[in-house]
Amino acid sequence: MYTDLLLPTDGSPETAEVLDHALAIAGAHDATVHVLYVVDRRHHMAATEETKAEIRESLEEEAERATAEARSRIEAEGLTAVTVEREGVPHREIVAYADEHADIVVMGTHGKTGREQLVSLGSTTERVVERSDRPVLVVDIGDASP
Ligand code: ATP
Ligand code: MN
Repeated sequence: MYTDLLLPTDGSPETAEVLDHALAIAGAHDATVHVLYVVDRRHHMAATEETKAEIRESLEEEAERATAEARSRIEAEGLTAVTVEREGVPHREIVAYADEHADIVVMGTHGKTGREQLVSLGSTTERVVERSDRPVLVVDIGDASP
């Protein structure tokens, strides 16, 4: 049923919890797990050239760390991992990548910003659920929504 699963990550520690679910599905289907980190262009759009380079560099380091961490867990399960870094607006890149390379998406209710006290779904997840044609499994992390 599933051959390619997409796990988008923003490097938040909760990714580990989301990965548990992703691995259960991927393991059952022997699916390849694609780990996608999007360097959020909005974080450095308004910055000066110098600051822009610094911000991008630190986001790229985070991308490297987050995807490598996920990769080792995926490979430890005997599954194939594909790690990808893209730059842009996260939900757009996630939807486009899923459209091209995945048949299911697994992601958390919240990410780095962690506004779980205020909103039941982070904006990236909300938009991916709305805009993607793929099934999206949303894993509730942190406090349950009100
Ligand atoms: P918000 O960004 O709306 O202020 P938030 O950060 O808590 O709130 P989201 O951004 O929706 O919530 O994060 C939820 C999930 O979306 C993350 O767990 C991750 O799977 C995915 N995601 C968010 N940002 C990125 C990113 N830059 N690259 C890849 N995946 C991302
Ligand atoms: Mn976010």
